[in-house]
Amino acid sequence: MTPTPSDLHSRRQFLRASTAAVTTTALAATVAPAKPPSRGKVRTVLGPVDASELGVTLMHEHAPAIDWAELYEIDPAPIAPVRQQMIDFTTKLLDRFHQTLGTGQGPGAIVECTPIRVGRYPHLLVDLAKKTPVHVIACTGFWCEAMAPQHPWALALGRKRDGVKRIAKLYIREITEGMEDPYGDWGKDFTRVPVGIIKCATSTYLRPSERRCHIAAAIASRETGCPITTHTTDGGGLEEAQLFLKHRTDPAKIIIGHQGNLDNRTESESHEYHRRLVGMGCNVQFDRVGHAKDYGNKKIARQVKALVDSGHVKQVYFSHDNGPYFNDDYTGAKGTGKEWKITESDYTVVTTGLVKAMKELGITDKQIHTMLVENPQRVLAF
Ligand SMILES: [Zn+2]
Repeated sequence: MTPTPSDLHSRRQFLRASTAAVTTTALAATVAPAKPPSRGKVRTVLGPVDASELGVTLMHEHAPAIDWAELYEIDPAPIAPVRQQMIDFTTKLLDRFHQTLGTGQGPGAIVECTPIRVGRYPHLLVDLAKKTPVHVIACTGFWCEAMAPQHPWALALGRKRDGVKRIAKLYIREITEGMEDPYGDWGKDFTRVPVGIIKCATSTYLRPSERRCHIAAAIASRETGCPITTHTTDGGGLEEAQLFLKHRTDPAKIIIGHQGNLDNRTESESHEYHRRLVGMGCNVQFDRVGHAKDYGNKKIARQVKALVDSGHVKQVYFSHDNGPYFNDDYTGAKGTGKEWKITESDYTVVTTGLVKAMKELGITDKQIHTMLVENPQRVLAF
């Protein structure tokens, strides 16, 4: 059915939706329908794989793009003019990560943590994954209000009487069928490209709209077995964990992210805070490896050492939170592709500098293998 302008958010969306019908039909033909995943597999964008096939897994990256424009209710930067360049350049960066891996560590995988409508292009991820040996696992979920407004679709869904259920339904549909196609009107078209994790995010405290998304994630996780990964903003992880547990999420499925600096809002190292999280059965993730001086390798190695020494090696994960293409031109897309900024993105710091720093503190090869290879295998399979 052709939408009329009154059905739609704006005239711009109407125009976008009318051209999208053509684009999505053309794209749908290029991607084979996803097979229903069997139990205990990792759901990559190319379909389910055995967890043992991943190797070292970077648990929170953005490859290739982040675009916050829709959060400001303006058009996203266009992909078409830079699509091939994005794929080629990101492939090169991921291949570099792949080349750092030794025997028993490959081919490597990334969890692509770009949430709904902030630069998540399912078919772009498919084409990227086809070019690199590195597996790509995508996410469902809405971004928070930390550094930009929450997505108007999340707010619109959440405001309804059964808002949490509606958001959960969207997450479950993306997990069981495939990601929404961002070229159309919100929720109009869905691809058959699956996701393998739910992303949740909190600002410095859990705002009402963020709480709704967390509870929806808990419902979706309970129903599907899909793990949850989080963004925190200088703390907030304990509140997230408590809310998930209150809604009966399996703590082993909860990964509290962005650890490594001011995790409890005051201390830089926050050992006690990490111990409380793992004590609840949750996982902690040091996923800004390589970022500025606040997240230095030596400091993260000390934080990890404390967790390993207290018997929690099975609850630690790593990543860089890097994304090579970023649009922060919120004055409105001009349609040329020049809105995209290329940022410095190195996906090799975990497997080089951080591993070296951990070894210097006496963390063993076996323990490093557990954290880099075995933990992701276990948490991502469902
Ligand atoms: Zn991120």
